[in-house]
Amino acid sequence: MSAENESAATQAPRTVVVIGGGQAAGWVVKTLRKEGFAGRLVMIADEAHLPYERPPLSKAVLAGEADIETVRIAKPDEFAALNVEAWQPDCATSIDRAARVVTTRAGREVKYDRLVIATGGAARKLPASIAKSAHVTYLRTLDEAMALGERLRRSQRVLVVGGGWIGLEVAATARKLGVQATVVEGAPRLCARSLPQDVSDFLLDLHRANGVDVRLNAALVSLEDRAEDGIRAGGVRATFADGSTLDADFAVAGIGLAPHTALAEAAGLAVEDGIVVDEFGETSDSNVFACGDVANHPNAWLKRRVRLESWANAQNQAIAAAKAVLGVKTPYAEIPWFWSDQYDVNLQILGDIPAGVAPALRGSLEEKRATLFFVEEGHLRGVIAINSARDLKLARKWMSQGRAVDIAALTDTSKALA
Ligand SMILES: Cc1cc2nc3c(=O)[nH]c(=O)nc-3n(C[C@H](O)[C@H](O)[C@H](O)COP(=O)(O)OP(=O)(O)OC[C@H]3O[C@@H](n4cnc5c(N)ncnc54)[C@H](O)[C@@H]3O)c2cc1C
Repeated sequence: MSAENESAATQAPRTVVVIGGGQAAGWVVKTLRKEGFAGRLVMIADEAHLPYERPPLSKAVLAGEADIETVRIAKPDEFAALNVEAWQPDCATSIDRAARVVTTRAGREVKYDRLVIATGGAARKLPASIAKSAHVTYLRTLDEAMALGERLRRSQRVLVVGGGWIGLEVAATARKLGVQATVVEGAPRLCARSLPQDVSDFLLDLHRANGVDVRLNAALVSLEDRAEDGIRAGGVRATFADGSTLDADFAVAGIGLAPHTALAEAAGLAVEDGIVVDEFGETSDSNVFACGDVANHPNAWLKRRVRLESWANAQNQAIAAAKAVLGVKTPYAEIPWFWSDQYDVNLQILGDIPAGVAPALRGSLEEKRATLFFVEEGHLRGVIAINSARDLKLARKWMSQGRAVDIAALTDTSKALA
């Protein structure tokens, strides 16, 4: 770091620039003002909307029950009161760390004292060798969710590629709208990266009971425009490695997230599965911070580095990073938490779900009310709660307190947990 930048890092900032306009960026600007930052605040965001929350996109927004008004992080007048120069829609195209200048696609430039990168990520795309049809869509933004919802409402059959969280929520919403849904997943089970076998099986049964045609171990070879006798017939045709085919009005692919790290990488910041930050959100440059889906942080609970893609992380890591920008060093040390809503099931995951640890089960998966406690050396490492939010809340308290647990008491449904 140059001598000028080194001394800048120790002075109170006069100009803070935030790249990104999602949930994490929204919480950064809110927190900066709440903490008393009165300087210039510039937010560069490539979506036209003010910051909003994405969880409802695959649920209420897709179902047509919510729109921009219900998902905003701050109402327009509240946002206006934050006195943020929102450069949007515009896209930050380069960061000159030596000069501390960000340049945008529209040709604007801004010099920062501190920079926060909250660029999230984009829906990962299927390779062009597979996706040859125009009827292949993705879901990451509000505009995509609105368009997808409209399309679902005028369709009869949707093909969902990917049996992860977003794919399963899309399938559940499609069924709610009366649309036939097929989910194709290459792995032998659903949500295999985050769930143990029992819960994957539970989700499989849940979707099949709701009329979804779920195909596991499905090796998708191509998605092409459907044609009959060489003439376009509308819709998409999926072909699998075993030669079988499947037709649908259109396909939605939910195959993961590609974090927006290119800008940071080009600026020479440390990047390894996300922008590398410490527990305060500080990157390898002490004038530059990162948070949310794009940041890879050392997680105290998991005892390893991780890039989380969750609502709670986007909010709370952003709050910690914004405070650190102002020199208030509060480590981000929360227990990872994620939830999903599908049909009549609310599923929440807290902490670490260690492979090879058989969970203690409270309740019953068949009855769709169960809590799986993952216990190691007498202490909770993680919890999966299915329609049992209260259990999860208690578990969070015990985990935060480091309290020892008794498996017999955890699994005894004749007595309330306390
Ligand atoms: C459909 C869906 C459903 C979800 N459901 C749940 C759920 O049920 N529970 C849960 O815990 N989590 C859920 N999540 C995850 C959660 O919403 C994300 O973790 C969160 O939105 C991450 O926020 P972020 O601000 O880090 O990134 P993002 O929300 O991706 O925001 C980043 C913004 O920065 C913009 N940007 C990127 N690069 C630039 C640039 N160079 N210049 C300007 N702007 C740029 C992007 O376009 C984007 O608008 C869901 C996500 C999706 C997509």
